[in-house]
Amino acid sequence: MNNHFDTSETLDPHDWEQSKALMHKMVEDAFDYVQHVRDRKIWQDMPEEILNTFKTGLPKQPSDAASVYKELQNTVLPYPMGNIHPRFWAWYMGNGTISGIMGDFWASVLNPNLGGGNHAAHKVEEQVVNWIKEIIEFPATASGLLVSGGSMANYVGLTVARNVNAGYDIRSEGLKENNLVYYASTEIHSCNTKAVELLGLGTKSLKKIEVNADYTINIDALKKQIEIDKSKGLRPICVIGTSGTVNTGAVDNLEAIADICQQEQLWFHVDGAIGAIAMLSNTIKPKLKGIERANSVALDLHKWLHMPFEAGCIVIKDSNAHKNTFSLIPEYLAKNTRGLASGENWFSEFGLQLSRRFRALKVWMSLKEHGSERFGRMITKNVNQAYYLGELIKKNEFLELIAPIGMDIVCFRYNPGGLTPEDLNALNKEIKLQLEERAIALPGYTTLNDMYCIRCAISSHRVTNADFDELVYSVLSIGKEIQ
Ligand SMILES: *Cc1c(COP(=O)(O)O)cnc(C)c1O
Repeated sequence: MNNHFDTSETLDPHDWEQSKALMHKMVEDAFDYVQHVRDRKIWQDMPEEILNTFKTGLPKQPSDAASVYKELQNTVLPYPMGNIHPRFWAWYMGNGTISGIMGDFWASVLNPNLGGGNHAAHKVEEQVVNWIKEIIEFPATASGLLVSGGSMANYVGLTVARNVNAGYDIRSEGLKENNLVYYASTEIHSCNTKAVELLGLGTKSLKKIEVNADYTINIDALKKQIEIDKSKGLRPICVIGTSGTVNTGAVDNLEAIADICQQEQLWFHVDGAIGAIAMLSNTIKPKLKGIERANSVALDLHKWLHMPFEAGCIVIKDSNAHKNTFSLIPEYLAKNTRGLASGENWFSEFGLQLSRRFRALKVWMSLKEHGSERFGRMITKNVNQAYYLGELIKKNEFLELIAPIGMDIVCFRYNPGGLTPEDLNALNKEIKLQLEERAIALPGYTTLNDMYCIRCAISSHRVTNADFDELVYSVLSIGKEIQ
């Protein structure tokens, strides 16, 4: 033992004033960074010498915070993923909000782990979940919690579905017979497959039903498959409807799925990672009819609600079913009737995580600042822009729309005519990569019916119609140049 240990050493700044000045500078820089995002490249490759800086070993000795910041400015800030840029349309992401940044900042300052039931962070999360319930027209008695994102939200929902409909106490018995079946369309997001695997059921227990021409689940095929499975002695337990598929933004017929689930006594889960929050948009809301009849809905608030990553939400209509799935209270988490450890519903009883960051604060601050109606207008704007881009594509003889526009996702390709399917795919792949490498725009891609297409997921509150004029112009000129 070292008896001369300096007990006054902490992780707080040695010089508070100096540290504060550095933080002030970061705030200045961060605001400039966001305000002028359009002026920088969306994305760029990292040069070798920068890449090498990420290979150095563990720093054992302290260094000056200002020099750490300098390094961040040189090696991290110029090489972002790019998704806060208005012309980022790859995968499916939001852009963040300034109030979201403020919320995350204060969440780290307060730094609660969300355990216990009697402190402000708990109340803020409860209120945010209540607002989400209002948005999707769930009753006030429903339960829910914020999670990392859509994957975790779906996992929680599908777990409750399994436990409720297994027909026995699966928590204590484990899986007795692997005959439980989930249903979803072939367009289902892969995280649901992972969830079913983790639930011990195997991928074979997620039956993927064919889709219609508009990529929504074929309801007749779904009914037939349920009948076939029942006659084979399998136990159908849940149908997953998707409100906004990741490929094309297709919204399943939620009302029809709700009817089937009601008749067959199945759990109705909605993967609303993309579309559930579009209940805020007057133009999309009618398309989502039936979502209010679901037993559980998974949402992603870091997608079309633009929260800084990460923020997802799961809402379960039957709060008892929810709690019975996850609640487990050992003596070190026993509740008190007074003090910090009082309160009925701790979030650890509704999900897998015990320690959880204060995710709700950024949502709470953003919704209070902007109001839900403005968020709804941002969603409507993107849907209108998807149709605007769709029109530009339809009007041009060298461009082809590859899927109907479901909400805010546009799949198209350049087709000058006379090329084989393979050459067309290769050409469009090259166009997409050149758009990216020339930092013109960053669309995504997918393959539909063996056709490679450029896929624009338009979930940006910063994008303008002129950005799509520029996209179409660039696709045509790159296409002509390299074909
Ligand atoms: C993005 C997405 C998910 C997964 O959500 P994460 O937040 O990435 O975990 C699930 N389902 C759909 C339809 C999605 O678009």
